[in-house]
Amino acid sequence: MAQEDVFKKLVAHCKEYGFVFQSSEIYDGLSAVYDYAQLGVELKNNIKKYWWDSMVKLHENVVGIDSAIFMHPTIWKASGHVDAFNDPLIDNKDSKKRYRADVLIEDLMAKYEGKMDKEVAKAKKKFGESFDEAQFRETNPRVLANKEKMDAVHTRFVAALDKNDLDELKQIIIDNEIACPISGSKNWTDVRQFNLMFSTDMGSTADGSSKIFLRPETAQGIFVNYLNVQKTGRMKIPFGIAQIGKAFRNEIVARQFIFRMREFEQMELQFFVRPGDEMKWFDKWKETRMSWHKSLGFGEDKYRFHDHDKLAHYANAATDVEFKFPFGFKEVEGIHSRTDFDLKQHQEFSGKKIQYFDPELNKSYTPYVVETSIGVDRMFLQIMSEAYQEEKIEKEDGKVDERVVLRLPLALAPVKLCVMPLTKKDGLPDKAREIISDLKFDFNCQYDEKDSIGKRYRRQDAIGTPFCVTVDHQSLEDNTVTIRHRDTMAQERVEISKLHDIIENEVSMKKLFKQLK
Ligand code: ATP
Repeated sequence: MAQEDVFKKLVAHCKEYGFVFQSSEIYDGLSAVYDYAQLGVELKNNIKKYWWDSMVKLHENVVGIDSAIFMHPTIWKASGHVDAFNDPLIDNKDSKKRYRADVLIEDLMAKYEGKMDKEVAKAKKKFGESFDEAQFRETNPRVLANKEKMDAVHTRFVAALDKNDLDELKQIIIDNEIACPISGSKNWTDVRQFNLMFSTDMGSTADGSSKIFLRPETAQGIFVNYLNVQKTGRMKIPFGIAQIGKAFRNEIVARQFIFRMREFEQMELQFFVRPGDEMKWFDKWKETRMSWHKSLGFGEDKYRFHDHDKLAHYANAATDVEFKFPFGFKEVEGIHSRTDFDLKQHQEFSGKKIQYFDPELNKSYTPYVVETSIGVDRMFLQIMSEAYQEEKIEKEDGKVDERVVLRLPLALAPVKLCVMPLTKKDGLPDKAREIISDLKFDFNCQYDEKDSIGKRYRRQDAIGTPFCVTVDHQSLEDNTVTIRHRDTMAQERVEISKLHDIIENEVSMKKLFKQLK
């Protein structure tokens, strides 16, 4: 099945099974805003816990905060967001659709890359074991032709971004005959800058209300609390402050479901270091974060780093962790070396001294910052798109059955087990409820007595439940049940008293944490 079709099915599945709903759906929805439903919120909370504990619980020198969304408006002046948090937008005059000029150009480069990958895959299939990919990429004329085109666009693109040259961005689109994906037209407006911050008014109008912004990132809430946390927590550099919270961006192009939203959630760490040590910590956090991603077990080839072509005004190094979504490699996390830019700006704009006295060096300085910033929603989409699988199962009678299974990492699954009485009578439901009343303190449990066992299994597979526990007549006699494993569908008979440990051993987050570097 084409990857786009898989993605469409995934979006439908998220709605059908209660993971994600369009916001305000009964009013025809609000563009690029989504609600997490009964199962979605559980998965989301588990993702946040996996991140939070890996940062705050597992690092002695990292603490967390939860700062307010509303902040003093001058903060956004100091941070540079009022003047520079812009995206270059371009409109297609025929379809009236609006695009990000940089994204149109990046998509073109991705197209060339896709063509090269296709040639490589074809050759790999043809030559088998003896295939030398590096040599093929260096010598195959079709690969080289695409690479040349891609490099030419890339060189112009980077130069245009560096100079903030909006006319040149448009010219690249014209010269490469980039067409509107909807109308196919190449009739473009000029490229303009568009500020992504939402604003609102705080206070009554009579005594002068003030314009405030909905935060476009959680980071600034950490910077303006740096002194408070450092002093009250007696933190010594190097140390970090972690935060999870909502952020808001008036995105120009909001497509691909929850990949790009106007209201989303970030998990950010700002790690304060000695000036000069930032590259060491930048590399360290790159490694730590990649290990966090890979521990989920989706495979090494799904991830890559992508260094930024253009550094943000505050950064002296920046890379993205990219994941191979059904629509290609895309950013899920940014890792930035933000220098001392933010703390210095806040020192200047607030007039408060923001420094650290380093007892080892016996001097004061403005700390440098290494940031890791990941979107909860993108992580959610990544996990769901990797977990969603349609499988054919050969049955004993030779017939082929189908199932949709969410192979979620077990520790993140919204429901850990479903207890099912084989029939609705003979006291089996009571026995099933007894099991739940014991296990519910440690695991999210469901109870299901409707339809055949086979149908019930399918329902749980479709929401990624790792274990189904079936209570039958034998259970009443010897206190044993059948436990079925989601991924292998294998079943075994176990004592009810052993259920807790069997499940705990598989679904505990500890298992993930122990793999982390
Ligand atoms: P992009 O280039 O995709 O717009 P960005 O580089 O602006 O992203 P950052 O400012 O580095 O993103 O934000 C850090 C993380 O926050 C991103 O890696 C992403 O996971 C998440 N994020 C940013 N914008 C959005 C959004 N509109 N919707 C959902 N998640 C987002």
